[in-house]
Amino acid sequence: MAAKIIDGVRLAGEMREACRERVARLAREHDFVPGLAVIVIGEDPASAIYVRNKIRACAQVGIRSFRYDYPIDVATATILDRIAALNASPQVHGILVQLPLPPQLAADPILRSISVDKDVDGFHLYNVGALVLGNTVFPPCTPHGVLKLLEREGIPLEGQNVVVVGASNIVGKPMALMLMQRDATVVICHAKTRDLAQFTILADVLVVAAGQPNLIVPQMVKTGAVVIDVGINRLPDGRLVGDVDFEGVRRKASHITPVPGGVGPMTVTMLLVNTIASAERMAERIAGRPGPG
Ligand code: NAP
Repeated sequence: MAAKIIDGVRLAGEMREACRERVARLAREHDFVPGLAVIVIGEDPASAIYVRNKIRACAQVGIRSFRYDYPIDVATATILDRIAALNASPQVHGILVQLPLPPQLAADPILRSISVDKDVDGFHLYNVGALVLGNTVFPPCTPHGVLKLLEREGIPLEGQNVVVVGASNIVGKPMALMLMQRDATVVICHAKTRDLAQFTILADVLVVAAGQPNLIVPQMVKTGAVVIDVGINRLPDGRLVGDVDFEGVRRKASHITPVPGGVGPMTVTMLLVNTIASAERMAERIAGRPGPG
């Protein structure tokens, strides 16, 4: 069996076209331009690439972006002041703080200071709680992008065995919750899981977000499984790979995402979607009408 390669670039492109149309409609009907503020602390090279991609994607669809760079030793109070100003700004509909933060800064108070109405990453305590209850305002971008890919491929989730490898707050946990809400039977594995393969082999859908190249090899995958590789790892020779042995596993799976070109472009796209949805809600509120969800 040779797996179908799930093309994240294509779906992201289609969705960005729809984003462009929504932005144009906001301008036409409300004279409104969506705005995204990005706060960057320190000079992590991977973060620099992600931020550049996000800002470029904003420009492509007509979202205005505002970037604020701070040195690695910035005080928390400085960041909180900036966030307070952005919370109050009518030009800003989404605020994100690029993670990971330098070790001396605690993420929680910073993320909690973002207005829940502008929390386009969905990492504020309120939005995390809403996600647990199944009615989140801003679905976290990476797991939301994975769901869109599965939806587009017509892959059923109801009653399916789904194994999520990785239990981080930004990918694994929200992914598992969102899959549960679609009536999948979900197992979450992490670094202390004993004998990972005994779980992964049962997966109809396997989502891997561990940050470990070659963690998933063919003998850990059920024949015909759908394999979603969220991992992004830079090898010493400069190549970018996921967490899955792509060449080996593609011979066994029914569908597989490549790295790059799978989940990555969808993550950025869902950030655009959340920012536009936030601007639409705000425009409708100003116009005195309830916004679209
Ligand atoms: P993270 O915060 O480092 O979390 C990694 C998770 O994987 C943890 O839960 C960890 O377990 C688990 N893990 C680590 N080694 C493992 C192993 N050998 N077996 C089983 N589980 C293991 O990372 P993250 O932010 O979730 O990101 C994960 C990967 O996805 C990274 O490669 C990152 O670059 C990538 N990523 C990609 C996108 C995208 O758009 N494609 C977006 C975000 C992240 P413990 O909890 O026990 O430590």
